[in-house]
Amino acid sequence: MVQCFCGMVHDLGRRGFLGALMAAAVDAQAPAPASAGPADPALIEDLVIANHILYDQGVVDGFGHISTRHDKDQNRYFMSRSMAPALVTAEDILEYDLDSTPIDQRGRAVYLERFIHGEIYKLRPDVRAIVHSHSPAVIPYANVKVPLRPMNHIASFLGGGVPVFEIRTVAGPASDMLIRNAALGHALATVLGPHPVALMRGHGSVAAAQSVRHVVFRAVYTEVNARMESEALRLGEPTFLNDEEAAAAMKTNDGLVDRPWDLWKRRVTAK
Ligand SMILES: [Zn+2]
Repeated sequence: MVQCFCGMVHDLGRRGFLGALMAAAVDAQAPAPASAGPADPALIEDLVIANHILYDQGVVDGFGHISTRHDKDQNRYFMSRSMAPALVTAEDILEYDLDSTPIDQRGRAVYLERFIHGEIYKLRPDVRAIVHSHSPAVIPYANVKVPLRPMNHIASFLGGGVPVFEIRTVAGPASDMLIRNAALGHALATVLGPHPVALMRGHGSVAAAQSVRHVVFRAVYTEVNARMESEALRLGEPTFLNDEEAAAAMKTNDGLVDRPWDLWKRRVTAK
């Protein structure tokens, strides 16, 4: 038994007071999770190029991020340290566990909203890459009760519906709008459900896919579709792809993502 600083009397058993203090010190500095080892260099190269493409295509600016799951471990993912995506190099890529704890941080700043990525990977084993952005044409559809729907076959991945995440339902009426902890990330991932894209009211959107190239395709064409839909709504009532057309077109497009990728990659690597 020992009288503690808090005034309470605690039974520390055989561990003793010094042992308890040492255990508390160890708990306070919980060891970083272990690395799953190096990724396929081609995966990291795609992730770096994707950062540059998303800027070049107007999906991200100084803000926004893209991640990919580790090719050797379902419970790890890669994402840049906190910086503008257009400036990312392979040296800036960090490994995270699915609680979004960096493996080898070495003093580098990490994205506040990294929980978006870890929590979606937890709920969606099929997802291998995620983009979070504030692309401007999409945000009106997050803030107005007009659904984002597929205008043409290229954006057919929007066919199954695009849910909207309302942060007030989880964080109350006075949040800073950021997905800054695991609980908010989990709530967003739950709203995303099985869909490829979800909107975030007053904030932006997330896109999820089976590869870096697929998720870049989806993030770019979500923005393009939002521009086209807004234009169509000024003219009249659009006829969208129905669910059957969207499902069939998505199947076709999923085999064609390398075509725009090669073009977008050449634009950012030729500079
Ligand atoms: Zn954000």
